[in-house]
Amino acid sequence: MAVSVVLIALGLTVVFSMVLIYQIWGQRSTAGLSASLIAFLMVAVIWWTIFYGLEIVSSTEGFKQFCFRAKFLAIVFIPVFWMLFGLQYTGRLQWMTARRIALLCIFPGVTTLLIWTNELHGLMWTYLGVGDIGGISLVTSITSTWFWVHSAYSYVLIMTASYFLFRQFAGSPGLYRRQLVALLVSVIAPMIANAVTIFGNQPIDYTPFAFAVTGLALTWGLLRFQLLELVPIARNLVVDSMTDGVIVLDAQGRIVDLNPAANQIISGITPDAIGKRLIHVIAMMDAQLDLTRWSATTGEIQDELVIGEGANQRTLDVKLSSLYDSHHKLSGRVVLFRDITDRKLAEQQIRHQNEALVTANHQLVEARKQAEHATQLKSQFLATMSHELRTPLNAVIGYSEIQLMGIAGELSGKQREYQDRILANALHLLGLINDILDLSRIEAGRMDLLLTPFNLQTWLDEIVLQNRVLAEEKQLVIEASIDPRLPEVIVADSERLKQVVINLLSNAVKFTQEGSVKIAVTRNDVDTLKIDVQDTGIGIPIHAQETIFEEFRQVDGSSHRQYGGTGLGLAIVRKLVVMMGGHIRLKSEVGKGSTFTIVLPLKAEISKTTTPEAMVQLETETL
Ligand code: ADP
Repeated sequence: MAVSVVLIALGLTVVFSMVLIYQIWGQRSTAGLSASLIAFLMVAVIWWTIFYGLEIVSSTEGFKQFCFRAKFLAIVFIPVFWMLFGLQYTGRLQWMTARRIALLCIFPGVTTLLIWTNELHGLMWTYLGVGDIGGISLVTSITSTWFWVHSAYSYVLIMTASYFLFRQFAGSPGLYRRQLVALLVSVIAPMIANAVTIFGNQPIDYTPFAFAVTGLALTWGLLRFQLLELVPIARNLVVDSMTDGVIVLDAQGRIVDLNPAANQIISGITPDAIGKRLIHVIAMMDAQLDLTRWSATTGEIQDELVIGEGANQRTLDVKLSSLYDSHHKLSGRVVLFRDITDRKLAEQQIRHQNEALVTANHQLVEARKQAEHATQLKSQFLATMSHELRTPLNAVIGYSEIQLMGIAGELSGKQREYQDRILANALHLLGLINDILDLSRIEAGRMDLLLTPFNLQTWLDEIVLQNRVLAEEKQLVIEASIDPRLPEVIVADSERLKQVVINLLSNAVKFTQEGSVKIAVTRNDVDTLKIDVQDTGIGIPIHAQETIFEEFRQVDGSSHRQYGGTGLGLAIVRKLVVMMGGHIRLKSEVGKGSTFTIVLPLKAEISKTTTPEAMVQLETETL
C-alpha cells in the first residue's frame, strides 16, 4: 500500500475529528458532559492518528519507536472515554464517582507505565524493531502478556458501554433509534478494525481509519438528528420527575416504558408489566373501562378510569395519544394519566351542596308565600275588625260627651270624673284603632294615594294650628317656615302628607319640655322637597333610632306611661312616605333633641315597589 494513501486516510481522520470537535464544542451548553467526553475522545483519536502518521514518515528508528509508544497513550484511554460517555449518555451519572473513574484509569495507567519501561521487563512486547510492511516503514512488534490484558480490558469497557447504549435506545421511539444506529456504527467500527488488526495479523493498524468512520457517524448523528441535543436522558429525567403517570405502548399495545408516577398512581402497573399488553394489565385490576373503545381507536382519547373498590376507589383522568412514524403508520401510544379522585369528591360535594341550596331556596320561597298570604289575611281581618270596633266606640264617645255637656242632667263631681276617664280612654282606643286600620290598609295594599293640587301655606297653617293648643300648654312656640323657592301649589296626597307631618310634629311637642319646635319646608333639589321637624326635646338613643320605625316600638316602656301613645305613629309615617316615593331619616342626640327629615318628590309619584325598610336612612351623628 502506498504511503501516500495511508497518509491521506490519516489526514482525513484528523480533519473529521476536528470538525466533530468544533461541532460538539458548540453544543456543550445543551449536551453538557456528553459533548465534552466526545471532544476528549476525538482529541485522543487525533493524538493517535498524528503519532501514527509521524511513525510512518519518520526516518530514524528511535523517533519511530517514540511515536509508536506515544500513540498508545490515546489507545489505552479511548475505551475509558467511551465507557464514561456510555454511562453519562444513558443517565448512569450516579455511577460516575471520582473513585470509580480513578479505578477505571488504573489499567490504562499501568499499561502506559509498562509501555515506556518495556525494555526492563518485556511485558508488553518481547520484540520491538522497524520493518518494511507493504512498502511502509513501521515499528513491528511481538506482543507479550500485558498487551493481551490491555486488549481484553479495552474490549470489556467498549462492550459494556455499547450494551448500555443499546438498552437505552431499544425502547425509544423512531428518532432515538436512528441516533442509536449512528452511535453504534461509531462504536462498532473501531472495534471491528482493531479486531481485524490484532487477530487478522495485518501489517497496518486499521483502527485510526475506523475512527474516521466513528467521526463521520457521530457528526452525522449530531447534525442530522441532533444526537446530543435531544439527549434521551433529558427526556427520561423530565418524564421520571413528572407527577402525571406516563405509559408508553408499542403498536401492539404492549407496555414498553413507564415512569415512577405511573407505578405510584396505579400500584398494579409495576416495571414488571413491561412487555405485557396494557389492556390485560388493566383488566386484571378490575377497572371499569370501555376496553374495546380504547383498543379500537387510534386517535386521541380522553377517558375516566375508575379503579379499586370502596374506600380505595380512585378515579383517573386518562389521555391516550397515538404516535405515528414518518410513513403515517401507528408506531405506538402514550398514555398520560393523573389521579383526580380528590377533585371528583370535591365536585360531588359542591353538587350536593348546590342541590341542598336549591331545595332550601324552594322552601324559603314557599315559606315567604305563606307568610305573605298570612299577613294579608291578618291585615284583612284587622281592617274588618277595626271598622266593626269603631262604630260602637263612636257611640261610647258620643254619649260620654253628651253626658259631660249636661244634656242628660247635671253630673256629680265623681260622675264627671268617671265620665272624663271614659272619654279619654275611648279617644285613646279610637286613635289606636285608626292607626291599626291605616297600617293594615297599607299592608293589604288597599291604601291608595289621592293626588290633588293644594296650597302649601294653607296646608302648613292647618298643621300648626292642630298642635298649637298642646304646645302652648307647655309654653312652646312652633316656628314654621316655607322656602320661597318652592311653588305655592304642589301636587300630593295632602291629607296623608298632613297625617305624616302632624304625627312628627305632635311627637316633637310631646317629647319636648322646653326650647323650641321648628318645622321647615324647603326645596331639596330640582325634583324633591324636604320637610324637617326639629325639636329640643329628650332625644332618641342610638340603639333605638332604627327600631322606633317598627310597629309598637317605643324607646322604652316608661315612655308609654309618661307620654302615652301607641308606638304605631312612626311605622305608619315611614310606610306612607315610602308609598309617596320618598324617604325619612333621623338625627338625634339624647338630651339635645331630634330632627326628622322627609324627602319627597315634588311631583309626587306612588311607589309600591320599594320596601319600607330599604328606604329608611338613619343618620346617627350628633346634631
Ligand atoms: P308613639 O305613639 O309612642 O309616639 P311613635 O311611633 O310616634 O309612637 O313613636 C315611637 C317612639 O319613638 C316614641 O314612643 C318615642 O319613644 C320615640 N320618639 C318619637 N318621636 C320622638 C321625638 N321627637 N323625641 C323623642 N322621642 C321620640
